[in-house]
Amino acid sequence: MREGDALKPAPFGYAKATSVEHAVALLGQYTDSRILAGGQSLIATLNMRLSAPKLLIDINGLDELRRIAVVGDWLEIGALVRHAEAERSGDVARHAPLIALALPHIAHPAIRNRGTIGGSLAYADPAAELPACLLALGGELVVAGKGGKRTIKADDFFKGLFETALAPGDVLTAIRISVARNESRCGFAELARRHGDYALVGLAAAARHDGKELRDVRLAFFGVGATAIRARTAEAAVALGTDPVAALARDLDPEGDVQASAAARKHLAGVLLRRVVAQLTEPRP
Ligand SMILES: Cc1cc2nc3c(=O)[nH]c(=O)nc-3n(C[C@H](O)[C@H](O)[C@H](O)COP(=O)(O)OP(=O)(O)OC[C@H]3O[C@@H](n4cnc5c(N)ncnc54)[C@H](O)[C@@H]3O)c2cc1C
Repeated sequence: MREGDALKPAPFGYAKATSVEHAVALLGQYTDSRILAGGQSLIATLNMRLSAPKLLIDINGLDELRRIAVVGDWLEIGALVRHAEAERSGDVARHAPLIALALPHIAHPAIRNRGTIGGSLAYADPAAELPACLLALGGELVVAGKGGKRTIKADDFFKGLFETALAPGDVLTAIRISVARNESRCGFAELARRHGDYALVGLAAAARHDGKELRDVRLAFFGVGATAIRARTAEAAVALGTDPVAALARDLDPEGDVQASAAARKHLAGVLLRRVVAQLTEPRP
């Protein structure tokens, strides 16, 4: 037996980052390195040898990435905030109700106790809830890299299957969402084989109700393409009061797989759209 064959993952080194700057420096120094956050996705890919980085850079000691705070008009959620912590947060419930609606659908409590907000967004699974929520909310991602800090709009962040705008030396440090106002509306629905499974199809939505009509409608589907997808034709239909399900055919072209055919996914997307549009028109509690 060769060295390392007795373990599930290929051999790797381990470094504990002492600050965000340290993590960025380590990423720059070791090109084949990866950030370790909650490990709920990364460790599985290592164990299946789908990925074999030479160095894991553990950011779990960085308390500066654990903050949930209102800063001006923004709710800022640190990248290391666990799904379960966000689920229990009064600030998230009050200022980002869409995220609060979505969190209980992510996996199971044991995974939510470890999985992080930043890990979910950096991993960018096309069937994950949070990328779609951030897209629907028009949020931003705060990133530290070798050139310093920058922000990336959610609309520009999700590039392809498990592919984001993060460069190899980048650490995602936080997300930012405009705090919900009285006129803000949101809706969320997903269909999964069992509660906690990744969604077959899901929809996160946000809008503004001006007293008469819905404005600034943003519909972000997940599980129907390589990334979370804005359904812009359906958004316009909702705002105009015409049938958004008929418009949806122009927005989505899902592929079939062992879980559901393309036709079933399209049909389910229409069902979810009707449910979520009904949620958007309800007054905010
Ligand atoms: C059985 C099971 C079911 C699941 N079901 C769902 C589900 O229904 N919906 C869902 O959304 N998720 C689901 N997940 C995934 C879960 O939400 C993970 O927590 C999440 O995808 C990754 O978060 P993490 O903190 O564990 O990241 P890790 O596994 O530590 O990292 C994931 C990737 O992101 C990178 N990364 C992590 N943090 C950062 C950062 N701050 N900056 C830059 N890169 C970073 C890592 O290098 C790695 O490439 C499931 C996981 C399991 C095991």
